[in-house]
Amino acid sequence: MENTHYDLIAIGAGSAGLSVVERAAAYGKRCAVVEQGRLGGTCVNLGCVPKKVMWFAAQLGLALEDAAGYGFDVARRGFDWTRLKAARDAYVAGINRWYRTYLADSDIDLIEGTARFVDARTLDVDGRRFTADHICIAVGGRPQVPDVPGAELGITSDGFFALEQQPRRVAIVGAGYIAVELAGVLNALGSDVTLVLRGEHLLRRFDPMVREVLAEEMLEDGISLLSGTQVAAVTRGQDGTLCLALDNGQRLEGLDCLLWATGRVPRTDGLNLAAAGVETDAEGYVRTDAFENTNVPGITAVGDVNGKAALTPVAIAAARRLADRLYGGQPERRLDYAQIPTVVFSHPPIGSLGLTEPEARARHGSAVKVYTSRFTPMYHALTPRKRQTAMKLITVGAKEKVVGVHLIGLGVDEMLQGFAVAVRMGATKRDLDDTIALHPTSAEELVTMR
Ligand code: NDP
Repeated sequence: MENTHYDLIAIGAGSAGLSVVERAAAYGKRCAVVEQGRLGGTCVNLGCVPKKVMWFAAQLGLALEDAAGYGFDVARRGFDWTRLKAARDAYVAGINRWYRTYLADSDIDLIEGTARFVDARTLDVDGRRFTADHICIAVGGRPQVPDVPGAELGITSDGFFALEQQPRRVAIVGAGYIAVELAGVLNALGSDVTLVLRGEHLLRRFDPMVREVLAEEMLEDGISLLSGTQVAAVTRGQDGTLCLALDNGQRLEGLDCLLWATGRVPRTDGLNLAAAGVETDAEGYVRTDAFENTNVPGITAVGDVNGKAALTPVAIAAARRLADRLYGGQPERRLDYAQIPTVVFSHPPIGSLGLTEPEARARHGSAVKVYTSRFTPMYHALTPRKRQTAMKLITVGAKEKVVGVHLIGLGVDEMLQGFAVAVRMGATKRDLDDTIALHPTSAEELVTMR
């Protein structure tokens, strides 16, 4: 007979939901996770994992261009998108299967179907009823598309991962993580890419230095940037191509793909949160306190659905701490959302941590001291293609405590993690200066800046 009562049920088998039940089960709790789609959520199926595969492919494409500079007699003779997609899908399917086995081995029940609250302790999953002492809402989010005529002719990042053929001429709308990442991938793989920004800047919330260098590098790579304009309408011509009418009167014609990268919304509709009395904010995010509690005792919300920071490692960390607090005898355990390091897998990649320069100056005024460095990394000394690396350290006070690290360039995605540890431990500029450099690397610039 099916077990119907649990200590904890997580709704959503993505990064947050899987992490909370995994840790709770390790504490000996009886757990289940409800999932209507594939195991692993956005990150595994429609985000980080397949995106990073595409980013690696793009990096290889660029390396092939660079190889002649190092004496190789190679040329890019083609790129088989369909073959790469099949390999990528197989890799993701392997992760899906691994999770299924892992849940079974961990004694966590997988309830397949769509959950709806019946009351604060009861869920309906496609007609079956389950109860739990605690329910964790971890349903994540989905892409949103602007309400303009013809918007449905475009795809989102979900559709990008379903593309069987490489689009040749693409317009990407948006200026956030997904827009710049997919623009870089498609361009490096040979598509003709135009980015349409409603504002003036890419990655609006990032430090101005990395934004500016990214825009320069994208232009250098041949990506067209159209800023300060929005899409007014989308139409399909007789030849099957798409046409974007922009609100500045310009038209983009002959596109074979329009990709909306205009943000994401929480996936809370359909959960019947009202039946449990769970409050959401105006945008639909579940309201939570610093301990991930909703307004209803026994119901928590973790991951993209609570709107705090839509990043996989944040979801995992918050979910594990939640289980530690609920079942591990650590009543004060919670995630500190300050100083979250983040990487944008643009070309070149960006690593960012802590305050941007404008934020630091607004908060600490003249106590701020900034160190910058901009150079051509040694790798590009011999390549026909030249790309820049730029670094910025932001310090505060007489001791020059590091409060911001902003990097763009080859390898910075792998560079930031260790510096994030140092900054979290309170590193000062002097600590960096006293660290012996690794030579020859780009990272050594971070401990030799003057
Ligand atoms: P972001 O919030 O990063 O960016 C959304 C972008 O859409 C903004 O540039 C915004 O413009 C633009 N936008 C919103 N509405 C419109 C509109 N109507 N017309 C034109 N532009 C519009 O969202 P993403 O969808 O790129 O990514 C979602 C989240 O997923 C990210 O915030 C991040 O947390 C996570 N993510 C993380 C990655 C990583 O860690 N590497 C990779 C991918 C996603 P404006 O700037 O003017 O507001």
